[in-house]
Amino acid sequence: MSFSVHGLAVSRGIAIGRAVLVGRVDVAHYFIDASQVEAEIDRVRRGRNAVVDELQRLLADMPKDAPHELAPLLDVHLMLLQDDDLTEGVKHWIRDRLYNAEWALTTQLEAISRQFDEMEDEYLRERKADLEQVVQRVLQRMSGTAVPIGDDARTAPAVARVKRRKSDQQAQLDGMLDDNTDVPLILVAHDLAPADMLQFKRSVFAGFVTDVGGKTSHTAIVARSMDIPAVVGARAASQLVRQDDWVIVDGDAGIMLVDPSPIILAEYGFKQRQGELERGRLTRLRHTPSITLDGQKIELLANIEMPEDAPAALAAGAVGVGLFRSEFLFMGRHGKLPDEEEQYLAYRAAVEGMQGLPVTVRTVDIGADKPLDHHAKVTKEDDYLNPALGLRAIRWSLADPAMFLTQLRAILRAAAHGQLNMMIPMLAHASEIHQTLALIEQARAELDARGAVYGPVKLGAMIEIPAAALTLRMFLKYFDFLSIGTNDLIQYTLAIDRADESVAHLYDPAHPAVLRLVADTIVQSQAQGKAVSVCGEMAGDASFTRLLLGLGLRSFSMHPSQILAVKQEVLRSDTLKLTAWAQLVLEAEDPAELLVQNAAKSH
Ligand code: PEP
Ligand code: MG
Repeated sequence: MSFSVHGLAVSRGIAIGRAVLVGRVDVAHYFIDASQVEAEIDRVRRGRNAVVDELQRLLADMPKDAPHELAPLLDVHLMLLQDDDLTEGVKHWIRDRLYNAEWALTTQLEAISRQFDEMEDEYLRERKADLEQVVQRVLQRMSGTAVPIGDDARTAPAVARVKRRKSDQQAQLDGMLDDNTDVPLILVAHDLAPADMLQFKRSVFAGFVTDVGGKTSHTAIVARSMDIPAVVGARAASQLVRQDDWVIVDGDAGIMLVDPSPIILAEYGFKQRQGELERGRLTRLRHTPSITLDGQKIELLANIEMPEDAPAALAAGAVGVGLFRSEFLFMGRHGKLPDEEEQYLAYRAAVEGMQGLPVTVRTVDIGADKPLDHHAKVTKEDDYLNPALGLRAIRWSLADPAMFLTQLRAILRAAAHGQLNMMIPMLAHASEIHQTLALIEQARAELDARGAVYGPVKLGAMIEIPAAALTLRMFLKYFDFLSIGTNDLIQYTLAIDRADESVAHLYDPAHPAVLRLVADTIVQSQAQGKAVSVCGEMAGDASFTRLLLGLGLRSFSMHPSQILAVKQEVLRSDTLKLTAWAQLVLEAEDPAELLVQNAAKSH
């Protein structure tokens, strides 16, 4: 039955494929080679057998005074473990879909859990928890036997070869796709932490849908950086979709269509091709200098998460990196943080990857919706905390000076290899600025003491807390440049959690208060002769390009995938005409209305 699920449009484009429901994201997900199928099945078998042995031993050695429910419970666990549904299902996902063993096991767990949910009998429904426990034990037994995710898996093509038995409807849909054997896969999950997204980066998925998340949640940001269609905040999407359903992700409208009719599919196939043509047209602008009609040179920089993103930045025509979110080096490592050498090599790789163009490394911004590992909230009590207002970014760094000094030394050393700038996130207090500057001095002194080579860095501050935007004089005194982090500036100005889909409708970049803080930051920085840029999502949203130009902005930093669309706006703009209009927008009660009118007039 066809139906649609509505969420927030966070990454443009149309993706059509089969749903892959990912329930647990703390296990590895990668495609194996056909030659590895039997070895993967064997890994699951060995993991399962080890747990069966363990349970049988427990049963045999059961003390006389053990609670009488224990033996029947272990029997149930044994029965679940040896059930054909589990073993055959796992083999199916490995053989037919080429999923790695852990992915196959959790996918089958998900499928069986749904059957349990639908059962009338309460006793049987409750067996779901037992199944989860035994699968968890098998996963533990298997850990350590996993084939590491190699480069092959990470760079696997964006489609999976899928052998499948087709129903008539499926066959009809398949026939409408270009290639009958390669089916794009769409990842559907309740939630994905940025660390999980990183795991999926350059992987096999052609689209993402999550139940939770806001427009500028970091999950959405990574989806955008991957330039694949994504919808977040789709509420019950992961409950409504079944494994393997055909789905369409409309990343422009924020909709997922499930089990579409052939007519709808044809319509979206057409839209998808139109989008590809438009992108093709934009690539012609790659080497065109970014200059407005009245001759203003506009700097278009890239936001990156990993040094490996540098080629995409260059390919999009970026003239440097305006924001390297260094925290992605720190995530998903089970608490083992990267040491100085590893960080130094990563920052150096980014600088070298940009081939002489400047790179701004932002010091680590862990916390809020970017936990070190997969899940931000661990205990029930955590529900009462708002991590966005907690120990995050520079606060986290200052709370652990040894960790921060390690990063500072690594950045300073990498600066010997090219133009490297250092930028500090989430500053608000003079004391934080002073402590940060003192630690940078200390890092230099430690390198001197070691006789290590390091280079000069320009030092920047992010303006992303209203308190910072309202005390710009202090920031301009201590820093060489400022960069406006509109994602957080909007979050903190409007008191809207950027990761919470239930208040996403109030997250408004065009709110007069936000525009006032952005405008003042640009004007005051320029008055002091200091460089200023915007590196939040607003910079990559072409519907704000004219306004930002009108407010005087000349430097924008965004995902590589957004650069050409913004450049197109720049090339069509005359800043002389935009200045007066931008002042009107600033004064308006409803600036969004003027933005829409202007867009309609100019296109
Ligand atoms: C911002 O807040 O606008 C920003 C660029 O930083 P992040 O999105 O990583 O918090
Ligand atoms: Mg921020």
